[in-house]
Amino acid sequence: MSFFIDVIIPLSLPQTFTYQVTLAEFEFLDSGFRVMVPFGKNKYYTALVTAKHQNALQKYEAKDIFLILDEKPLVTPQQLQLWQFIAAYYMCNIGDVFTAAVPSVFLLQSETVVQINAEEQISIENLTDNEYLIVQALEQQASLKITEIQQILNKKDVFKPVQSLLEKQVITLAETVVEKYKPKQLKYIQLAAEFANDKAGLANLLAMLNRSEKQRQLVLAYYQLIATNKQVLAKDLIEKSQTSSAVLRTMVTKNIFEEYFENQDRVVFDAAVQTQINLSKAQTIALNQIQESFSDHTTTLLHGVTASGKTEIYIKLIEQYLAQNKQILFLLPEIALTTQLVSRLTAYFGNDVAVYHSKYSNNERAEVWQQVLEQSPKAKVVIGARSAIFLPFSNLGLIVIDEEHEQTYKQFDPAPRYHARDTAIMLAHIHQAKVLLGSATPSLETYYNTVQKKYGKVELTKRFNNVVLPDIELIDLTEKYKRKQMIGHFSDKMIDAIRDKLALGEQVIVLQNRRGYSPYVECNACGNVPHCVNCDVSLTYYKFSGNLRCNYCGHTESFVKRCVKCHATDVNTKGFGTEQIESELLEFFPNIKIARMDQDTTRGKNAFEKMLDQFKNKEIDVLVGTQMLAKGLHFDNVTLVCVPNADNMLHIPDFRSHERAFQLLVQVAGRAGRADKKGLVMIQTYNPYHNVIQQVCNNDYLGMYKEQLYERSNFKYPPFYRLIKITLKHKDVQKLKSGSFWLYNALMQQFPNFQILGPEEPAVNKIKNEYIRTILFKISNKEHLGNTKKTLQRTLQSFDSISEYRSIKISLNVDFY
Ligand code: ADP
Ligand code: ZN
Repeated sequence: MSFFIDVIIPLSLPQTFTYQVTLAEFEFLDSGFRVMVPFGKNKYYTALVTAKHQNALQKYEAKDIFLILDEKPLVTPQQLQLWQFIAAYYMCNIGDVFTAAVPSVFLLQSETVVQINAEEQISIENLTDNEYLIVQALEQQASLKITEIQQILNKKDVFKPVQSLLEKQVITLAETVVEKYKPKQLKYIQLAAEFANDKAGLANLLAMLNRSEKQRQLVLAYYQLIATNKQVLAKDLIEKSQTSSAVLRTMVTKNIFEEYFENQDRVVFDAAVQTQINLSKAQTIALNQIQESFSDHTTTLLHGVTASGKTEIYIKLIEQYLAQNKQILFLLPEIALTTQLVSRLTAYFGNDVAVYHSKYSNNERAEVWQQVLEQSPKAKVVIGARSAIFLPFSNLGLIVIDEEHEQTYKQFDPAPRYHARDTAIMLAHIHQAKVLLGSATPSLETYYNTVQKKYGKVELTKRFNNVVLPDIELIDLTEKYKRKQMIGHFSDKMIDAIRDKLALGEQVIVLQNRRGYSPYVECNACGNVPHCVNCDVSLTYYKFSGNLRCNYCGHTESFVKRCVKCHATDVNTKGFGTEQIESELLEFFPNIKIARMDQDTTRGKNAFEKMLDQFKNKEIDVLVGTQMLAKGLHFDNVTLVCVPNADNMLHIPDFRSHERAFQLLVQVAGRAGRADKKGLVMIQTYNPYHNVIQQVCNNDYLGMYKEQLYERSNFKYPPFYRLIKITLKHKDVQKLKSGSFWLYNALMQQFPNFQILGPEEPAVNKIKNEYIRTILFKISNKEHLGNTKKTLQRTLQSFDSISEYRSIKISLNVDFY
């Protein structure tokens, strides 16, 4: 009798592989276990068991597995079901899904590189002999491949001890990720136990301190704070007592106070304030409607204007699922994940919350994985960006997807190119859980689904606490230029408004959706525009460095005033980005603090958070930035939002550009205004009568929806058609051209009645020295999706069997965004 298992290998391969196991292994193993298997030439990979059976192979002889890595399954049957859905729907390899889904700590292979974890103290007592030998080897040499460890220890079976060392956090994977996100640490103060526990403590203490007024003040302030708070922040204590950190330090050295630190993500906030949310009447109605809608819909949209209090509704809803002992997944766009909303949720749910962040280290992500797998109380609510849908939930009750319209929910590269919102809805089906989508500007697809009654819909049309939506004022650029009322890119009106708000001590946001100083430079004599040597894009000018840079590949060259083509010295910057806006503002207002928020200024560790903190603390008067600014942030003191040029958003050649322009403008406008002061939004444009601009002014979501839906139906786009973008890449442009035509013709033959566009030379037709062609494949809702994809897959296979074209890289993007 022979026994077999089927496994997935973490490589970009479409099929599972069969290995032979012993009877004992067969009985022990089950789907979801990891096993180490030999694969290819002398290499070992962590593979995942998907099935066991006794059907001998026909094609090749099954090899033996090398060893079993788990005591119990690491992956649940529900996860495997989701992976299979993703592979089929997004037309990618199951091996790609495996690699994307599981933290790399769990995917040891021969080539994995490990190193000592510098952040942990190693205690040797807890190590086995093998583990100790590995640690010793790593103390000799900074990092080692698994194959090297095998050589050093002169044995093959080093995977288990390596895995165990990783779990004990003695070692880590040598990560190439440069910036790791570290949750911010907050300093807390508590009274030393001898004073805190003694009833007469306060009196004694005050008597003891009778010579130092400042120290007495600190103690009194401490008692006041602790009366209403669970914990006392050092910063609050100093403020309240009106003393200084020096006084506090003295008392810490005297052992009267003690300091301790906690991650901001994990903080249990002031219980009195944070655990009491009383929903307004409108919010209560909305919450009830959501529950009602859940009785006959898996998915419901909460369409609520900016600052209508959607978050509080999420919180109340989550509470109800917590009470039923269910797991809850809260999805956020990546950029919003490290900020205000996470603090608000963790403040409320305290230690029930785990955060799953791509900037966390591998070990930290593995920890959250284990917590979810064990249904630990520490991970009842998981907040994460799109990859959190891959966690091993077994008892999922609710998924909240905030800002559901955000395009960052779609994975772009590499495969699996999944949409986290749509995949989460599938995940919910598997668990029979519910999904709440939230947005002030829902995606067209989602809203369409509510109109079709596929999703439920609940609306909040007013802001919380009677705050009114901001006024929106359009400034016609044609006229302003004609009347010479422009200085740089600002009209007199916009500058006056900024000046007025600043005079009142209020803050201003300026949106410019391009980074750098200018998007390109141009020779005025011959019109030559310098392009990247690797990519087909113009170089962006950065004034601070005096460089031209490619925003696709990072290629940099210095900016020379002399044209490389005609040698004229009349080379000028064209267009404008955030950097230019910032420097113009500095000329108008030399004495204020201006900060710029874009991809260039938020690269460093926690740079984004730091800037938000400073803005919140009013250390920054004007914040200039790209769409990063519009991500669900609340600033109490912002009363003016300026958009110096709305037109560049309207003229992007993409079927979603109008929808996106609407969303971005409405979202950024939503940052303005508060209870006692109405917000103002100023938009400069050459097209004040453009429909989208008018819809933004009138907060007319429905108008935008109807118009765009009409266009989508006319031009055969989602939600009426599904799109699959086929991208072909090769260094040899001739080969690429003929390959693309071959594929296009083959598709036309297979699908004579389909809309197939291309092969197209995209706007950026070369990136990193590879040429690009695309074919857009449209599938009408009336077609059978599964069959169409199968035929498409077959056509691609025949493409692949032509030896001439095999080196052309093909990628598929289903539901292209
Ligand atoms: P949205 O997510 O819809 O943009 P938020 O949930 O962030 O809106 O709410 C906007 C503001 O109103 C926040 O400052 C929030 O703290 C406050 N708020 C909303 N609902 C309540 C409530 N029930 N009680 C107290 N404050 C609330
Ligand atoms: Zn480039």
